[in-house]
Amino acid sequence: MSNVTFHSADGIGRICISHPPLNLFSHSLLTGLSAALAQFEADASLPLLLIYCEGQSFVAGADIAEFNNPAFSAEAINALLNRIEAQTRPVVVALHGTVLGAGMELALACHYRVAQQGTRLGLPEVKLGILPGAGGTQRLPRLVGATLALDLMLSGRPVPAQEALASGIVDAVEEGEPLALGLAFGRQLLAKGGQLRRLSAQTAPPGEHSQAIASALEAARKSPQYPAKEAIVQCVQQALTADFASGARAEADAFKRLLPSAQSRALRHLFFAQRRSRQIPGLERQVPAGKIEQVGILGAGTMGSGIAMCFLNAGIRTVLVDAAAAGLERGLQLIRSTYEAQVAKGRMAAEQASARLALLTTSLDDQALAPCDLVIEAVFEDMALKLQVCRRLGEVCKPGAIIASNTSTLDVDALAQATGRPTDVVGMHFFSPANIMRLLEVVRGAQTAPQVLKTVIDLAGKIGKTPVVSGVCFGFIGNRMAEVYLREAEFLLMEGASPAQIDEAVQALGLAMGPCRMLDMAGLDVGAKTVIECDKAGGLPPDASYRAVVRKMFELGRFGQKSGLGYYRYEGRQALPDPEAGRIAAELAQAHGIAQRSDIAAQEIVERLLYSMVNEGCKILDEGIAYRASDIDVVWAAGYGFPDFRGGPMFMAEEIGLAQIVERLEHQATTRGNRYGYWTVSPLLQRLAAQRQGFDSLQAA
Ligand code: NAD
Repeated sequence: MSNVTFHSADGIGRICISHPPLNLFSHSLLTGLSAALAQFEADASLPLLLIYCEGQSFVAGADIAEFNNPAFSAEAINALLNRIEAQTRPVVVALHGTVLGAGMELALACHYRVAQQGTRLGLPEVKLGILPGAGGTQRLPRLVGATLALDLMLSGRPVPAQEALASGIVDAVEEGEPLALGLAFGRQLLAKGGQLRRLSAQTAPPGEHSQAIASALEAARKSPQYPAKEAIVQCVQQALTADFASGARAEADAFKRLLPSAQSRALRHLFFAQRRSRQIPGLERQVPAGKIEQVGILGAGTMGSGIAMCFLNAGIRTVLVDAAAAGLERGLQLIRSTYEAQVAKGRMAAEQASARLALLTTSLDDQALAPCDLVIEAVFEDMALKLQVCRRLGEVCKPGAIIASNTSTLDVDALAQATGRPTDVVGMHFFSPANIMRLLEVVRGAQTAPQVLKTVIDLAGKIGKTPVVSGVCFGFIGNRMAEVYLREAEFLLMEGASPAQIDEAVQALGLAMGPCRMLDMAGLDVGAKTVIECDKAGGLPPDASYRAVVRKMFELGRFGQKSGLGYYRYEGRQALPDPEAGRIAAELAQAHGIAQRSDIAAQEIVERLLYSMVNEGCKILDEGIAYRASDIDVVWAAGYGFPDFRGGPMFMAEEIGLAQIVERLEHQATTRGNRYGYWTVSPLLQRLAAQRQGFDSLQAA
């Protein structure tokens, strides 16, 4: 049965789209719509056509999975939308839910738009490295002018119904079911004479269009790594200066060019990767997620207070506990000042800030955690302390409560055992600043109960985080890979590369920050302590030069940005070169018999930092720590500033070619020696490269 049906009643033709769950624009929807439209065209007695959707939303976008289907081309969609717009009787569309991408373009092709209260509308294609390819770049500017059209298409942000009404994107916003809203609007329209209104024939409302285009073009050219932006601006310019047909041709050409681009493939890869990362092998659909109504956090430091805000922002009652009065006060102050700053910047209403703060209680007594459904410990990264804290939480937390650790590197299974109730325990590794960073590594312990895992993944969605499940190992997915990256950065420093040279080599690829800037910002003390803790647990290679620089910097009190000195010297936030850092590295090189040289090229830096990280990623996959390579990409894009237009380290490695990665790793092993196994190629990577296969050939267990 077709997912699109046509019928008429009370003199109005109705096309109903029912293609659950999101009514995505697919090939079958296209053919269904076309057939339904033909039925309307065949019945000249009907003065008006209404298009609406059943289910939770109007068409929420195009089915991206069908982009490779040649029958589902932009041309085919455009032909249908042009046919809808060309109708000689008015076409009304009733909108609800999320009206995005092709759904929005379908709406723009209709003559009138009525939306249910709460509807959100947008053209988010730019986030996938493409542009609206079904007339969106041509119709929207004609409707609202260049400034708003550019804002919506360049940001991809959805607009709420009321904003859409105020700007004329929709003609009415009402409470009620889409069908009823559409019929009521249609009848009123007929009563007023039922004028046709075709956006393609309209000219844009008056405004400062050329100025808006000039500044958008200038901004777009500053981010050439997102070529869709410049293409969008150029299409909008066409919409305002040329006829619809030539603008539509420019849009179609740009769409064809952008779709196969490396950037769009990378962005689409990450889009699917994020969706997949929530599917957990061994976690049956029927496992129910538990209810989390109150969250407790132990440790009100940088992380504890940031984590508290994640829950407060989502309207969840939160108890913040610290052993030290000063620690608690500092945490509370951090939360207050963050909200105050948001109010001052106009990003939050004062009442909203007060409402969030009202959900927070603080205590110096850990008994306050007893009624919580989930308790997250965020005390210092010290195994002895964490074991003691977990023992205590096992006693204090109510039966059935989830006990989570925010540890960055420590053994979650050992912490789970310490609680005496290991099935209740899970790692929840937030990233700093916790209220801002999207990533949440969910560490699945050997005994973590399926329901605990399901509850935490569900909760991650509610607090706006992107969860990725990791098994237990030192540093989990992200920090374990970062360790290899930092190891090579430090060896390069000792070999004579400057911090700026190293940072610039990876920043040139689009990483937000190179390793030296990153560690200086996170704190060299924090970085050094991680290495020291790992050493205590016997986790370091028997190599005295291993991460010797960070340990020395820590010893010398160079803690990075916070102390004004680290790999760089700081004036405020500005990082300046510091010859002293070079001298420290040179001394260490001499002490460890490392030869300094002056021929370190950017390519060598990239290969040593990033290819070694990919190799570690393959080991992580092979050990089952990550379920899929795409999960690793999500970790790096959402938690470590890896450029989304490169799709994450594993996707990037495939783009370079896995055989090429293997060849360069082997080259390092030969030229640098492989005493501690640093350059041993992962057997999984070796095998995939030899068989010319990609990571997709590996099935999740
Ligand atoms: P922090 O030093 O800022 O805060 C730790 C807080 O814990 C302090 O307020 C301290 O008073 C409190 N505390 C210590 N012992 C306690 C006890 N027995 N009971 C109650 N409170 C106690 O540390 P942080 O940077 O927030 O790190 C906390 C945890 O988060 C660590 O496990 C760390 O590895 C992890 N983490 C840190 C980052 C980061 O970038 N800082 C990122 C991810 C994870």
